[in-house]
Amino acid sequence: MSARTLFDKVWAAHEVVAEAPDTPAVLYIDLHLIHEVTSPQAFSLLKSLGLPVRRPGRTLATMDHSTPTTTEQVFGNVPIKVDAAAKQVRQLERNAEEFGIELFGMRDARRGIVHVISPELGCTQPGMTIVCGDSHTSTHGAFGALAFGIGTTEVGHVLATQSLLQRKPKSFAVNVEGQLSPGVTAKDLILAIIGRIGVSGGTGHVLEYRGSTIRALSMDERMTVCNMSIEAGARAGMIAPDDITFEYLKDTPRAPKGADWDKALARWRNLRTDPGAEFDAGVDIDAANIEPMITYGTNPGMVVPIGGAIPDTAGDAAFDKALRYMGFHSGDGMLGKPVNVVFIGSCTNGRLEDLQAAASILKGRKVAAGVHLLIVPGSQQIKRKAEASGLAEIFKAAGADWRESGCSMCLGMNGDTVAAGQYSISTSNRNFEGRQGVGARTLLVSPLTAAASAVRGRITDPRELL
Ligand code: SF4
Repeated sequence: MSARTLFDKVWAAHEVVAEAPDTPAVLYIDLHLIHEVTSPQAFSLLKSLGLPVRRPGRTLATMDHSTPTTTEQVFGNVPIKVDAAAKQVRQLERNAEEFGIELFGMRDARRGIVHVISPELGCTQPGMTIVCGDSHTSTHGAFGALAFGIGTTEVGHVLATQSLLQRKPKSFAVNVEGQLSPGVTAKDLILAIIGRIGVSGGTGHVLEYRGSTIRALSMDERMTVCNMSIEAGARAGMIAPDDITFEYLKDTPRAPKGADWDKALARWRNLRTDPGAEFDAGVDIDAANIEPMITYGTNPGMVVPIGGAIPDTAGDAAFDKALRYMGFHSGDGMLGKPVNVVFIGSCTNGRLEDLQAAASILKGRKVAAGVHLLIVPGSQQIKRKAEASGLAEIFKAAGADWRESGCSMCLGMNGDTVAAGQYSISTSNRNFEGRQGVGARTLLVSPLTAAASAVRGRITDPRELL
């Protein structure tokens, strides 16, 4: 057999019916993750057709997008304040019960952002196909899974059939070599990659992140990188599983155990691109040249090194519109611009290592007067670990607002929003117009840059405070 990429191997292992010129392939789905926002219509479709869920045991539900993050609303007697959110939460509870799907509900100790809890429970495993009605499903590619977001109608198809109609994407090698400098994180790396290939650079492709830099990343860091593959236009992002992956998974509750673990490990070790396999496209990145990055516009490709200036828009109407929205001008430097809100969280940067990074800057310091620093763990498990290890105390002593887990200000449909015109330094993944609230101005950064900017009350190079 000719040399194959990691993506080719996972695709071939799940292709039930090969694609033809007139018809897409039928792809078997190993794991379907659902949440309260994109599932109600899909369940209505099943009900209208009188269909059951094909494989309830391969379907996991959680609540994250619209759930509140204040303790009183999650665990107290204060009702969920956002009406639409309260309805979605109740609807998912009813649907999960009716269709026999496991649900990590509002007060479950394992609840959290869908892309955070599935890996930490060991449900995400190498070589799987994983889908979810959320764009950032690409996160799970960090484990060597083929994972991508699907639309609401497709959520219904997968619930009914455990398979999906798909055209096979092309492959794209992102080769990253060298060592990241101190103060430069996985978030800066993926922002730099998106800045290099552009927000459409990966369109129609599955990215495979490769090279010495990627191999040196922890699982939390790999998830940050794969998470934002979609922001480069890619269908998915993948990293070949290795000992770092296996070590992470070994003690997770739902990873295979005993002899099953040994069998799985033997299978997973073959999940790598064969020597000589060809990619349809590629880019080479030198990690040593990457600096802390920050976005200045309204898509993640509008990004510069933190010490840089906003480029000349050269009469590009889309750039001009983005800068008007942000209240910025070509040639402006980013350092020193004022900050109103700082958000540390999301499925990009709401994991324990992200919180540890933020704490390394916030320890013994105070959030600047007038700045609201919101820190939202990606899951309840992470919340407990942060509390047990003293991170939460550091945050609270600094003046941060420490919450229950959820998507929170990543998308602002749960009550956590940024006011119109305010500048939000955010560790999330999208800076689209209105993403964090109507008129909100979002600048995407790493947890280090977010924490440093919260302390100074203006955009700050984290290396000044390390
Ligand atoms: S944190 Fe943001 S990107 Fe991630 S699942 Fe929630 S809404 Fe989607």
